[in-house]
Amino acid sequence: QVVLTDVHKSYGHLEVLKGISMAVKRSEIVSIIGPSGSGKSTILRCINALAPINAGSITVGGMEVNDPKLDARALRRRVGMVFQSYNLFPHRTVLQNIMMAPLQVLKQDKAEVEARAHSLLGKVRLSEKVNAYPGELSGGQQQRVAIARSLCMNPDVMMFDEVTAALDPETVKEVLVTIRDVAEEGMTCILVTHEMRFAREISDTVYFTDKGRIIESNSPKDFFENPQDERTRAFLDKVL
Ligand code: ATP
Ligand code: MG
Repeated sequence: QVVLTDVHKSYGHLEVLKGISMAVKRSEIVSIIGPSGSGKSTILRCINALAPINAGSITVGGMEVNDPKLDARALRRRVGMVFQSYNLFPHRTVLQNIMMAPLQVLKQDKAEVEARAHSLLGKVRLSEKVNAYPGELSGGQQQRVAIARSLCMNPDVMMFDEVTAALDPETVKEVLVTIRDVAEEGMTCILVTHEMRFAREISDTVYFTDKGRIIESNSPKDFFENPQDERTRAFLDKVL
């Protein structure tokens, strides 16, 4: 469903992706792990055309991402993305935050969007916060609202970039549970995470990046128990 073929990406003279290839199938859960600065976020940004690539190709559901005629809006509607900072609108309620893009960008029917928003709030276990403002929520709750907001666009793929990195340890779990629920419903997920245990439990495939390259990819069991490359072993020694 998402296919990257020999993707190169530079910022000025700095080549940050040096030939990335990966293929994510429908309903597959893929984790990307690797040292800071290895290009993980850049991969996600390239997939939803927030960063143009210099060479290679990326397709999402057959849509060519670096096609000059790309309808970036249509692409981003298919590919939901949640970041470390959730960026909810502070002066809008939880419900309004979730409904905003489907109403304004997709011009969908209000009653329909509202029904979907309520059902998604149930899914992220925040039904009681429907009329709260973001400032009245914990970080973990705000992050779950951000996930519901992304899901309300009915994406085909969800990308999560270190969504728990800024949270208190005790609220990390509730967000991971939410991601697991999303994954278990068959959503295709690409996640960048430092939560190794979670990556191991949830992923179908783990990719390890270092200095703009994919060093190895494997099932989580083989990846964590029997890493093939010296760099992977060194990284895992540090973080496990
Ligand atoms: P982290 O784990 O710290 O989030 P990462 O693996 O997500 O790291 P990226 O954010 O993809 O790493 O960055 C890869 C490289 O690209 C880094 O050297 C970074 O400094 C550089 N980079 C990222 N975004 C830009 C930008 N907008 N302009 C210039 N350089 C950038
Ligand atoms: Mg990053």
